[in-house]
Parts: sequence; structure tokens; C-alpha cells
Amino acid sequence: MKLMKVTEPEAVIEIIVKNFSSLDYEEVKLESAGSRFLAEMITAPEDVPGFDRSTVDGYAVAARDTFGASESIPALLENVGEVLMGQIAPPIKFGQCCLVHTGGMLPEGADSVLMVEDVDVSGNTVQAFRQVAPGENVIHRGEDIKKGDPVFKKGHKLRAPEVGLLASLGITSIKVYRKPCIGFFSSGDELIDYHSKEVGPGQIRDSNAPALMHLASQFGADIIYGGILPDRFEDFLGKSKKMLEDTDLLVFSGGSSVGSRDFTAKTMQELGSPGLLVEGISIQPGKPTLLANCGGKPVLGLPGHPVSALNIFAIFGKVIIDQLSGRAKADYMPTVKAVLTRNVASKTGRTDYVRVKLDNGTDVPRAVPIFGRSGMLRTLAEADGLLIIPSASEGLNAGEPVEVFIWD
Ligand code: AMP
Ligand code: MG
Repeated sequence: MKLMKVTEPEAVIEIIVKNFSSLDYEEVKLESAGSRFLAEMITAPEDVPGFDRSTVDGYAVAARDTFGASESIPALLENVGEVLMGQIAPPIKFGQCCLVHTGGMLPEGADSVLMVEDVDVSGNTVQAFRQVAPGENVIHRGEDIKKGDPVFKKGHKLRAPEVGLLASLGITSIKVYRKPCIGFFSSGDELIDYHSKEVGPGQIRDSNAPALMHLASQFGADIIYGGILPDRFEDFLGKSKKMLEDTDLLVFSGGSSVGSRDFTAKTMQELGSPGLLVEGISIQPGKPTLLANCGGKPVLGLPGHPVSALNIFAIFGKVIIDQLSGRAKADYMPTVKAVLTRNVASKTGRTDYVRVKLDNGTDVPRAVPIFGRSGMLRTLAEADGLLIIPSASEGLNAGEPVEVFIWD
């Protein structure tokens, strides 16, 4: 039997980054730009806010007219009216003030706002019981963003705050990288459609298809499900050739070992050059994983074991999708610090991904390892996240502080 050459997980990520880059871009409307990645740098076309605004409800004044005012010696000001929201206010002169609401425009002649709590009003006379400093309770034109300022870099993810900020700048159409489309096949003679009511002897439902399709959409990709491939090379090659033409990334689940009835590797070699890049990863669960570059497109061969398939797709599938989506490199991975409740053994030379359940503990969260064979999907469904035991480590001891990668 041919020996499998295994690659370290970090090296696999480097291979992905080196081989594949962002897809082309498209112009989309702001309403549908959420969760996408910018394919252009955004500079501010105008100031935000576009005018000096009050940050409180109160009276717009010239600060110098309040200098020296106190509870015992209030400053007397003449109220000349009200700033209507969304309208230009009439200017104020020496000794005058004007009622202004939060977000209202400061009238010419005013440089600050006295809060309603600090005044007494009778008729047109406003008594100010304290002095304000110039600029107090005002957000100045361009204070949030100045015209010409760089706002976002290429590859920046458009979340809700970014979408709102672009709207405030009047930017309603933006260039984003195209969303990757994945062609997906399950494989194995034992598999039947997951919609099937009846399961024959020795058959199992294809549970990887819907689970992986959900992960793919969580990672921002579209997916085309090609169905179940029987363990026959002709079926693998024939169907995947066409699928690869129509999609940006091809994913197979099952048949990824280098055995006589496993055709993913052979198919990858036929689909385009340079072909196979990775024949196995020193990772648990998920060692028999294949990765190829077929004519510039990534092809990923996942192990059929449901836990392995999801683990590998969550790690490497995500990196491929991020790469194709044009995502700028993330600065950090969100983790939860916790204390391990039990010893976990690990072999050196292999990176272990241990499923853990988190509970709040008394003062710090506790990470409770969930043990079970890699085929048991329930163990993954019970886990809140994964704990990584690096390749050089022989395991972790109960009571050790750990960082858990959350899977939500
Ligand atoms: P393979 O990687 O093809 O050797 O499959 C490994 C194990 O995972 C076998 O027990 C398969 O029956 C199982 N398996 C493969 N594909 C799927 C799938 N799509 N859904 C559920 N189990 C699968
Ligand atoms: Mg199989």
C-alpha cells in the first residue's frame, strides 16, 4: 500500500494562501453588501457629520455669553426661537440663545450648547446657571469622518456598522469580491439521500451534505449540491469535471483515503494541473484529507466520517472560502479562556482538535472534554467549541488553562 505523506496543518494553510487568491469583484447595492469583503479602498467623499450638531437637548449659545455664570449669579440670555430638526437655524447675536434638540444644527453665532437641566426659562428669558466651554455638547463637522479620510481598506468585512457608515457617507453602491460558489458531492455506495424515509440494510443517510452546506453558507459561500457519487471512478470524474467548470471550489466528502475504492485523489489528478497538493494532514480528527489545485481552482477532499468532515471543513474550508472571498487576514480568532476539567492525552506529531463543552464554573469557565469516536456526530453536536493541542504536546492536564475556539 502506498504510504500517505502528511502535511502539518499550518503548512496546509500556507499552501492554500499561496495557491489561491480572491475571485473577481462585482458592484453591489449597499443593501446586499453585508458580510461581503471590500474590493476597493473607501475614502470619505464628504464630512460626517456635515454640520456642527448638538449632542444634547438644550440652548445653543456663544460660550463667552455664559462665562462666570453660576447658581447664584446666572447669565441672562434672550431666547430667539427653536432650531427645527433638519433645517438651518436662524443666526444668534450677542446675548442670545436658541432652543436646540439632540442632533439639531448649531445656529451661526453659537459654539456650544447649555443643557436644559442647567437653565430656567421664563418667556423669552433664559437663565443659565453654569458656564459652558466653547465646543461643549457639540460634535463638529467632520469630527466623525473627514472628507478624504481613508475609511476602510480592501478586504475589510462589511458588518452592520460598516454598512451604516457607508450609508451615512452617501455610498450606496460598492465593489465587493464575488461570493464563492462551491460544488459539492457526497460519495460512497452505502449512502442514500438524506430525505429517504426507509434505510436499507447497510445503508446510511448522507448527513454530510446538509451539514456542510450549512457551514458553507455560514462562511459566506453559495453551494451547488451535485448529489451522491457511487464508488466508481467514471462517475467521480465525469460529474466533477462539469461541476468544476461551473463553480469556484469543488468539495468531495468521502473516498479521500488512498485506498483501492477511494477515487477522490485519482480524480483530482485528472481534473487539472498541478493537481494534488496535500495527501493527508497531521490532524485529528480528519487525517485523510486531500487538497488539489486543478487548473487554478481549489478541490478539497474531505474524509467521510461526519465529525472529521465538519472539523476539516470548519478549519481549511473556511480558509479557502476566506481566501476566495478576498477577506483581509483576520488579526485574531475569537476564543474563550477556560480551565480544563480532565486530562487529555495526545500523540506528538499530530495536532488534536478536542471537542469541549463549556460551563460557567464558579469564577472561570470550565472546558469539559467530550470523548467519542470520530464517527459520532452527537459528540460534535454537544460541543460548544474546540480545543487545540499542538503537535509538539503530549497532552494537557486537568486544571490547565486553555483557550477554546467557539463554534456557533
Ligand atoms: P470514507 O471517507 O468514504 O472512507 O467514509 C468514512 C466513513 O464515513 C464511512 O463509515 C462512511 O460510511 C461515512 N460517510 C461517508 N460519507 C458520509 C456522508 N455523506 N454522510 C454520513 N456518513 C458518511
Ligand atoms: Mg467511502
